[in-house]
Amino acid sequence: MYTGWNNPIYMNYVSSNVGSNMDFHAATYNSKWPNMPSWYHVYAETNHFLGNGTNINTGSQGIPVSSWYYTEIYINNDEFLLDSFSNAKAQGTIYHEMGHAFGLKHNNTNEYSIMCQSGGELEDGTQFSRQVETIQYTDNQAVVNLYGG
Ligand SMILES: [Zn+2]
Repeated sequence: MYTGWNNPIYMNYVSSNVGSNMDFHAATYNSKWPNMPSWYHVYAETNHFLGNGTNINTGSQGIPVSSWYYTEIYINNDEFLLDSFSNAKAQGTIYHEMGHAFGLKHNNTNEYSIMCQSGGELEDGTQFSRQVETIQYTDNQAVVNLYGG
């Protein structure tokens, strides 16, 4: 994957989700997050699956408990299609979800990681807000740490 730093990821676009490993889907609050409180904004969600279709996601960290075979990334068009949702924010959200698809968890203690969430609060009450919308060296190295390279 062309981040500007070495890593072992190579991706190919395919036109069908049969046999693919990272699928993208358009979703809405009604279709994917019907019970989400109206004050909570979901931009996207990544789910990990075994080969038999079992969803093995574990919750808010967005990473599964075991190896997975494929991922489904759901993009929330109720947010993405707002005039206020910039192209840079859309790109950053997609990179963030792809990080989850590769197995990366949130990095909310580093606002300069694509794996920092767009906003929230640490356990000690510290507020955070992701300051970048592109893949950073620390994110590239997180993938290298998982896959080698
Ligand atoms: Zn996330």
